[in-house]
Amino acid sequence: MIFSQISDMINMGLVVLDKDLKVHFWNRWMAQHSGIDSEKIVGQSLFDFFPNLNEPKFLRNCRSVFAFGNFAFFSQKLHRYLFPLRPTYCDKEPFDYMQQSCTMGPIRDEDKSVRFIFLSVSDVTEVVKYEEQLVEMNRKDALTGIFNRRFFTQKLQEEFIRGRRHNRPLSLIMIDVDHFKQVNDNHGHQVGDEALKALSARVLDRIRKTDILSRYGGEEFACLLPETNGSSALRLAEDLRRIVAEENWVCRGVSLQMTISIGIAEGHPEMADSEALLKKADDALYEAKAGRNRAILYD
Ligand code: GH3
Ligand code: MG
Ligand code: MG
Repeated sequence: MIFSQISDMINMGLVVLDKDLKVHFWNRWMAQHSGIDSEKIVGQSLFDFFPNLNEPKFLRNCRSVFAFGNFAFFSQKLHRYLFPLRPTYCDKEPFDYMQQSCTMGPIRDEDKSVRFIFLSVSDVTEVVKYEEQLVEMNRKDALTGIFNRRFFTQKLQEEFIRGRRHNRPLSLIMIDVDHFKQVNDNHGHQVGDEALKALSARVLDRIRKTDILSRYGGEEFACLLPETNGSSALRLAEDLRRIVAEENWVCRGVSLQMTISIGIAEGHPEMADSEALLKKADDALYEAKAGRNRAILYD
């Protein structure tokens, strides 16, 4: 009596299964979220309703809890969910199904034998959503929405090692906006900010999905090009340079002309580390800056 009231009140799913993995108990939370009433599912095989659970890992866990009386944890990090239930709380759901943290454990008789096991189901969709947002914020630049320098540096190291190990080409381009201070001086910082946003969006539009574009500093951008040799990177850089120079940029109603200078470097097996690649791209950028509105490949 007390148990049934509590189990109907708690804000989590509670399921009890017998040795044949038929449902012995199904609390109100499970009924509400699955749309399956207790009267309908009790006495039936769990797998008739949730065929996705009829897989080796879940079955192994059930057997183990019956045999040894241990607990099993199904973290959302690994499993995402056990029961494909609709998410409820968030208005704009990034997930198809409610993210769940679940626990399975024994229910012991007076003689200590395990005739039933329970499954508890917690909705952790909110938590997972915020966790993912935090991860995203940590790697993105707030103004432009492209990757930040920290994430870029980490990726550069990873890709440098990967490229070397598999003997694959890798190039890096460094972009600096020419005379950008004048944009701010002539039109104000807000127009400057808009210009940086528009510029990064345009570059992002032109590169591959696998390329990693980042805001490396104020008006400097770095782009990592996996599987790309120096001459292809130079062609891309020339394209970007031309696109930017030919565009009539309109930011907050102000019409602007912009140009960019680009330094390009290709990774080589004899380079000590990713820092060396960065240094070469930077040197090439310095050279490009001498004339401005240029793309130069380090050789
Ligand atoms: P050049 O590179 O051609 O030598 O000239 P520059 O004017 O672009 O170079 P400099 O490094 O002297 O100035 C960079 C300017 O970029 C100065 C700064 O006000 C501007 N800047 C950097 N970050 C931001 C930002 O987030 N928003 C805006 N609006 N401006 C920024
Ligand atoms: Mg600069
Ligand atoms: Mg500049």
